[in-house]
Amino acid sequence: MTTWFASDLHLDPRQPEITARFRRFLAGPVRGARALYLLGDLFEAWLGDDDPEPSYREVTAALADLARNGTLIAVLRGNRDFLLDRGFGAAAGAVLLDDPALLRIGDETVLLSHGDGLCTGDAAYQRLRSLVSDARVGAAIAALPLSARRRLATAARAGSRAHLAAAETDITDVNPQAVAELLRATGATTLVHGHTHRPAVHPLVVDGLPRARIVLGDWHRCGSVLRWDAAGPVLLPAPA
Ligand code: MN
Repeated sequence: MTTWFASDLHLDPRQPEITARFRRFLAGPVRGARALYLLGDLFEAWLGDDDPEPSYREVTAALADLARNGTLIAVLRGNRDFLLDRGFGAAAGAVLLDDPALLRIGDETVLLSHGDGLCTGDAAYQRLRSLVSDARVGAAIAALPLSARRRLATAARAGSRAHLAAAETDITDVNPQAVAELLRATGATTLVHGHTHRPAVHPLVVDGLPRARIVLGDWHRCGSVLRWDAAGPVLLPAPA
């Protein structure tokens, strides 16, 4: 049976072609799969269940249809959609996972993360992340009127773009020590993450054991998907 992984779709009403590609992926390769894991930033900005955005409702319904057909759908929150909650999970037929999450595939232990928590060299970003990942802050944001949440999301995206443009490339990537520590602590052989938009398979050795870090790309460029079946993991370009 096949398990699929994707990350950083950044679904955005202003770019309907990416939503259309994702829906073709759900209706095509993923149909009948054992599971689909979405590793964060599925949505460019998730404001809450009360957001009437039609394309977000269509994607949620397409996920629910896949779940009804027997595919497990598991979702990690990213920094753009950290407000995803049980309401979304119920509507999409999806399980929301804490980050990082451990998964067994055959005899491999696989660690799943959005990846932003591993960018430990970026101190300013980590301060912001610990603030918004505080449940009380999330609840306070979720209680704001939709219009205020929309303004906040727009400001956060502008701030993020300015920060990424100014920061050194290596501090906005994952920190190798943080990766090694997490693999050691969990005993995982493979880490799969997104967030950095730098798709690649990186072989690693931690404590003398061969391991791998697989990075899924964002769908605003080519995008990538990971297919994992009896033959092992294969990182592929996202289908057209
Ligand atoms: Mn991200």
